[in-house]
Amino acid sequence: MDQSSEAGTYVTHLECSLTGQQYAHDRMRYLSDNGAPLLVRYDLEQMRKRLDRDFIARRRGDIWTWCNLLPVGEDVTPVTLGESITPLVPINLEHGQRAGAVLIKDEGRLPTGSFKARGMALAVTMARHFGKTELVVPTAGNAGAAAAAYGAAAGMTVHVIAPRDTPDITLREIAFLGAQSHQVDGLIDMCGEFARARATQHGWHNLATLAEPYRLEGKKTMGLELACQFNWSLPDIIYYPTGGGTGFIGMWKAFAELRALGWIEEKLPRMVAVQTLGCSPIKSAFDSGLDDVEEAFQPVTTIVPGVRVPKPLGGRLIVSVLRESNGHASAVSDESTLSSHSEAARKHGIHLSLEGAACLAAYREDLDAGRVSTDQIAIIFNTATGYKWPLPNIEAS
Ligand SMILES: *Cc1c(COP(=O)(O)O)cnc(C)c1O
Repeated sequence: MDQSSEAGTYVTHLECSLTGQQYAHDRMRYLSDNGAPLLVRYDLEQMRKRLDRDFIARRRGDIWTWCNLLPVGEDVTPVTLGESITPLVPINLEHGQRAGAVLIKDEGRLPTGSFKARGMALAVTMARHFGKTELVVPTAGNAGAAAAAYGAAAGMTVHVIAPRDTPDITLREIAFLGAQSHQVDGLIDMCGEFARARATQHGWHNLATLAEPYRLEGKKTMGLELACQFNWSLPDIIYYPTGGGTGFIGMWKAFAELRALGWIEEKLPRMVAVQTLGCSPIKSAFDSGLDDVEEAFQPVTTIVPGVRVPKPLGGRLIVSVLRESNGHASAVSDESTLSSHSEAARKHGIHLSLEGAACLAAYREDLDAGRVSTDQIAIIFNTATGYKWPLPNIEAS
């Protein structure tokens, strides 16, 4: 195999996720004519012939290891802050007579302390490539911090639209990174409307979840990285805190592409979309047999920021991943999230984000209910560092 040919990208077009209609990828595009997210498609046939998985795996350093499976051609210069590989940290949970072995995929190690860095690294890279200079993003918090950081690194102006009750530490982080921050009395959907209106009015580039095709490609690297860390055979089950669902959809896209390339075996993990009782639109839709989230979940009462998305734009895609993977949706209480949060810290020395703690709580519930067994390999996504949430008072700890 001529390894010098292993450069460049294999993108062929963008595709409407609803109808399959094709669009050229020669300029920045947003939703399809049907208002559905666009997916980046590749010439998998050529990739299969020309790319060598072990050669690529030997590059292993960061998300750009995967440049040939991303829209990053030789003419694209990455905007990077050092998106290193995130570790799988094993913990042993007591469960009856046996211990369940779970691995925490710790995304809190990424720039700005959350996995939003993966998506924004790609999205801002492509925005710069297509000549955008002013960005806007609606956020529950971490996407705003990541956009602020990558925008600063790319020399762009960034506008972040966040709910007024976003954790103070995140609002400060966004401002500290130089973004213009606007606070809205409402949830992320209202921030989304605000961002859309401003984007149209001022010609800003809108980085909202799934509103442009490239954040999803960045999140796809979670699936590629996981496959590589497992030596190309995937774990049994994946717990993922699901808000807008980019990571969930992105990982599944990664697995589908890897399978088409013949790099992984047929068997794919069961995907579990973890939400909380105070905001679980995906669970409601999936459990009622619907294809999409039809109505916004209300009232939203949960304290877990990452899942406070009452009506995700990618609802249809998330539900189809649940079906295809034979997975399920969970809704845990804030109380069991907080007790998993403190259990992980005290018993295992791991300072999880609330989103990661919700996944641990969901895993525990599934063990109790027999939906997962202790001999299955389970992955818990800790999507941000624990420092994104105020530490409890000393007396309360
Ligand atoms: C954004 C976010 C989520 C939800 O991610 P999606 O891929 O949009 O579903 C989960 N956890 C944290 C910490 C987040 O910032």
